[in-house]
Amino acid sequence: MTPYLEIGGDYREVVPGIHMLELPLPFSLGIVNVYLVRLESGWLLIDTGMQTEACFDALARALEGLSVDWRDIRRILLTHIHPDHMGLASKLIALTGAPLDLHRADHELLVHVTDTDLHRDWQQEILTTAGVSAEMRALVHSSMFDIQQSFERLTPDRLLCGGETIATAHGVLEVIWTPGHSPGHVCLYDGERGVLVSGDHILQHISPNIGWQPGRDALGEFLSSLDRIAALDVDLILPSHGAPFTGHREWVRKTHEHHAERCARIVALIDGGATTAHQIAERLWNRHLSPFHYRFAIFEVMAHLEYLERRQVLRADRTGAVYHWTTAP
Ligand SMILES: [Zn+2]
Ligand SMILES: [Zn+2]
Repeated sequence: MTPYLEIGGDYREVVPGIHMLELPLPFSLGIVNVYLVRLESGWLLIDTGMQTEACFDALARALEGLSVDWRDIRRILLTHIHPDHMGLASKLIALTGAPLDLHRADHELLVHVTDTDLHRDWQQEILTTAGVSAEMRALVHSSMFDIQQSFERLTPDRLLCGGETIATAHGVLEVIWTPGHSPGHVCLYDGERGVLVSGDHILQHISPNIGWQPGRDALGEFLSSLDRIAALDVDLILPSHGAPFTGHREWVRKTHEHHAERCARIVALIDGGATTAHQIAERLWNRHLSPFHYRFAIFEVMAHLEYLERRQVLRADRTGAVYHWTTAP
């Protein structure tokens, strides 16, 4: 298969029948790619972009350039519920009348996240167990306010489990459940043409952050999901951030390595006297993090701690409000 590129400003056809639309984001990632896939009749839209005017305008312009009407969109599928992917969903559902596909685990998470009080208490409790000061907890809470506001409840028409197929004008897309970055993250795979729409599961220059929740081995799930993708024949990865690229097995290998190194570093820090997630995060990043980024750093550390605990490398003392970690004897 020879993919071709038609540079067309904010959108281009990256594979026959698959258009990549670059939509602007108001934060450092810069751009989110959404994909428009030609169906036998009409189009499938994979992800919607963020709930901002700039994002909506860029999407509307791209569709106009492609002579695609809102009503020509016959199905909307979300790779996962992060605001840069699902932000415009309800607006687009109203405009297109299209049914929505979302994995059941991300739908459950969305119900949790949109219960603002419940979610705040949940997050504050996690930060407390991580040894984060009350002052920092308050800063994290306000830094998350905007993001929190951009989640809204959705009622999917189809709750995905993985394994579903969508017939397109050029073949079939298979839904592949790839939990880790979020519990219900999905990729879409065109096996015939070796094309993978990877969402945030595989991003060329970024190590996707792990969407950890207490009691969930999110890092373990992420690594297994990577192995699931490595087993597929993929000639072209179409990610949600950055340009299309090749070499998924090499990427998977490097990402395994990255997390193995991070695990080793965390064990060494614990051996060196760091006992809380906060102390570990401070030493791991060793620079000032904004409360927003600090929150993700803490959750990233927690994902690794839980992973290591489940593999009997670490132990947690959970008797007090703050959890203390030691290496297992
Ligand atoms: Zn994401
Ligand atoms: Zn993203």
